[in-house]
Amino acid sequence: MPNPKHLTERIFQSPSKYIQGPNAIKNAAKYLGSLGRSPLLTVDNIVYEIAGRQLISALESAEFKVTRGTFGGEASTEEINRLTTLGRDSQVDFVIALGGGKTIDTAKAIADQLQVQVAVLPTTASTDAPCSALSVIYTPGGEFDKYTFYDKNPTIVLVDTSVIVKAPPRFLAAGIGDALATNVEARRSKTSPNFGGLLPTEVSEAICTKCEDILFKYGKQAYEANKAQAVTPAFEAVVEANTLCSGLGFESGGLAAAHAIHNGFTAIHAMHGLMHGEKVAFGIVCQLVLDGADIAELDRYISLMLSVDLPVTFEQLGIPKVTDEEIRSVAKLACAPGETIWNMETAINEDIVYHAIKGANAASVSYIKRTDWTKQ
Ligand SMILES: [Zn+2]
Repeated sequence: MPNPKHLTERIFQSPSKYIQGPNAIKNAAKYLGSLGRSPLLTVDNIVYEIAGRQLISALESAEFKVTRGTFGGEASTEEINRLTTLGRDSQVDFVIALGGGKTIDTAKAIADQLQVQVAVLPTTASTDAPCSALSVIYTPGGEFDKYTFYDKNPTIVLVDTSVIVKAPPRFLAAGIGDALATNVEARRSKTSPNFGGLLPTEVSEAICTKCEDILFKYGKQAYEANKAQAVTPAFEAVVEANTLCSGLGFESGGLAAAHAIHNGFTAIHAMHGLMHGEKVAFGIVCQLVLDGADIAELDRYISLMLSVDLPVTFEQLGIPKVTDEEIRSVAKLACAPGETIWNMETAINEDIVYHAIKGANAASVSYIKRTDWTKQ
């Protein structure tokens, strides 16, 4: 329910510093020195080979003592506790997250338990996790568990675009899906508490709008640049939209139906191979249908998402034969108590969401047919 506590205060929160550019990791010691000298580096084995080795050597040559905490792959309570123990035993004085959304969410939770600062070094622009003071926690099996909130945002977010451009373009596209939801959801939750627990500011609204402008202007161009591993101005702009604008925008603006429906879809096993932003992309179409968007508006978003190969139909989500019963179970989870869907001012119930999900698939299928999209 919007503003159930009749809040009057507004809040905007963010990391202390955001740094982005092609040499960020090489210069990491310069930016991270103020946090301490003995970090716990949370990194999985794949990212260690891509960027971890380079980061450790950059830090060790500046006399940091780095403890490597190998991340197992799921942002679960079990994994967080295991790495927290390692950090405590090694007497680390801050935490570094190097990797994607789940690595970042895990590192933020570890830093909170150790009561130290965290620096986030994303190696993909696939989610808006780097800037926020919350983590999405999953079960060890990969199902959505809960949101966990922290007192502080990450102190430093350091984005090396020369590393990000080496990630598969699918990651950037997923980030575009997540970032495109930011404005669509924030504009429907203006009178509800944001993730800081108070009302959104004008600044967060401006950031959400800017985020969307960048994606419509440069999303497709950046996706193509990523395929060629070219760090262009369009690529830099979209990395900023996906990471900074989307991160600040969703946290201080608020989420609504797109993410709640995403959370519902995490219970469908056949979709576990999809990335967060890919499921959110379909959630955007659902949100627009719930909003009563006209066909021109729906087409505009669907077209952008298709241009970067984001899934907008059941078939593209890999669930062509999804049953009504399964869609009802997604709708039920999306309407769980405390879900962000309740930020919306319009009437919401499981039945309304069930119909919106089916209507979203129909709208995208219709767009693809009308425009002969598959032949383009
Ligand atoms: Zn998201």
